[in-house]
Amino acid sequence: QRNIAVMTSGGDAPGMNANVRAIVRSAINKNCRVFAVHEGYSGLVNGGPEYIKEMKWVDVRGWLNMGGTNIGTARCKEFRERWGRLKACKNMIEAGIDALIVCGGDGSLTGADLFRAEWPDLIKELLDKKEITEDTYHTYKHLNICGTVGSIDNDMSSTDATIGAFSSLDRICHAIDYIDATANSHQRAFVIEVMGRHCGWLALMAAIATSADYVFIPEKPTSVDEWSDHMCEAVSQHRSRGKRKTIVVVAEGAISSNLTPITCEDVKKVLVDRLGLDTRVTTLGHVQRGGPAVAFDRFLATLQGVAAVDAVLEGTPDTPSPMIGIAENKIVRRKLVDAVKLTKSVAKAIEDKDFEKAISLRDSEFHE
Ligand code: ATP
Repeated sequence: QRNIAVMTSGGDAPGMNANVRAIVRSAINKNCRVFAVHEGYSGLVNGGPEYIKEMKWVDVRGWLNMGGTNIGTARCKEFRERWGRLKACKNMIEAGIDALIVCGGDGSLTGADLFRAEWPDLIKELLDKKEITEDTYHTYKHLNICGTVGSIDNDMSSTDATIGAFSSLDRICHAIDYIDATANSHQRAFVIEVMGRHCGWLALMAAIATSADYVFIPEKPTSVDEWSDHMCEAVSQHRSRGKRKTIVVVAEGAISSNLTPITCEDVKKVLVDRLGLDTRVTTLGHVQRGGPAVAFDRFLATLQGVAAVDAVLEGTPDTPSPMIGIAENKIVRRKLVDAVKLTKSVAKAIEDKDFEKAISLRDSEFHE
């Protein structure tokens, strides 16, 4: 019988609960015991029954649509250190766990992959220090790990969608719909900041889905003069055709070509000074992460949960850790280490202002 642990880590995202629910029930269905690690990697480092709790079928009843993560999430500095991972290794063995599924962003999955690569060393150290017996050493010599990607940002390579991104997009679109009504009434302009860190997916999709007048994303930096002219031209044209409102969406990571951030206040100033528009700024903030998961996230998280349990059960010491994603509407199993590497390369290319490289790297995952 296998003992599988599941945790959520990094930023919370709607659909994480649905993912945990599917993992718990699928594991039980396959005659495994399943444990929830509470508060992300902190739960592994702290260990004990307060943090590592066995889950039964009914424990996840009603979790399918719930936002956030009921087993908690955290950023854990200790897990970035080897001594923290050694403690985590010991706590997992004490709880009898031999496989781990992590639902989180690229940082969490990097940590998971590192933990698995280090595991043989960590467990050998515990044996050498006589903290575990020879028998325990042989029972837990290999650790199977699998990642599912939970993040509202949709910033992970090798998957078309991360769990939570479509729920967040839905929240943003609703918020912009509300703003539309008041903007239209007063003929105002609104500059709306949306989340996404260094990824413009949420901003771009929200702009398309709400027919915004203009959008700023990190992937397409332009000089201040260029974007000011271009935006004012677009907005003036829309106004000249009788449009009573103006919506400009700004991704939180939006940057100019000299890599300085484009802030909502910068954009507002241009709309006021050059077009004389009565302009307001709205930062949507954490409301973008809240609320129930939309249908897409519920089924994405469920299918990926089932696939993650299969992946850890089929894993061998020689197979690399998998990450479960979705590509062209199919649930896929990718090498976790490759997906993390590609994600980091794209981020680095954007940081280095090499946008062509960033785009070609991003495209490369679809032409394997
Ligand atoms: P989000 O995309 O929502 O920010 P994330 O998973 O990328 O989620 P991070 O804060 O980067 O969020 O990572 C979450 C936790 O994963 C960290 O607090 C740390 O415990 C662990 N972690 C991240 N990177 C590493 C690493 N390189 N080595 C070990 N552990 C790591």
